Amino acid sequence: MIFNKIKFFLLNQVLPDRMLLVKGRSSSRSIYLTFDDGPCPGITPLLLETLQKHDVKGTFFVIGKNAERNPDILLDICNNGHSIGNHSYNHHRFSLQTLEEQKQELQKTNEIVKSITGASCNIFRAPQGRWNLRLLWSNALSKITSAHWSLDSLDYLKEPATLIVQRLREKPVKNGDILLFHDDNKVCIEVLDVLIPVWKSEGFEFKVL
Ligand SMILES: [Zn+2]
Repeated sequence: MIFNKIKFFLLNQVLPDRMLLVKGRSSSRSIYLTFDDGPCPGITPLLLETLQKHDVKGTFFVIGKNAERNPDILLDICNNGHSIGNHSYNHHRFSLQTLEEQKQELQKTNEIVKSITGASCNIFRAPQGRWNLRLLWSNALSKITSAHWSLDSLDYLKEPATLIVQRLREKPVKNGDILLFHDDNKVCIEVLDVLIPVWKSEGFEFKVL
């Protein structure tokens, strides 16, 4: 785990953003909301309503098999002006797969997204954020940006929303932060309903990857 963190830190220092994006470089005060693991019935549509209520856009890293089962929700994400990224087809642990298997996961999801929305995905996030140099290089050759995050909400721990809000207030967002949430779990909706107005009042704009 520590080895992985060190390796990731080094990759991030050495590689250009178009190969591994960890933080936005916008000169304006902006942050990027990202949502992994959907689209999920009963959750993603409510999240879309909340984002619309606050008039902000985000980036949805969708799992191919979920997109395939929920084409209407995927289309709603797209039609609401959000950005769609690829998060593999099966969400298997990428470190246990060959590069060929990883590429097939990407390609299958890209084909599904394109067949439903008409648009290609040019941004990818590996399941559990597990990267290796061969995958990053292969993506770069295919003009796909590999996108990590700079601030993890830890919403997958399924803690109460108040605790997540408190943690994100104690460790405030910074310009360019890419925030990680998951839309297979309703807690992000409650958290963002509280925090989006706070971040807006602090002057942050919300951008998509
Ligand atoms: Zn995931």
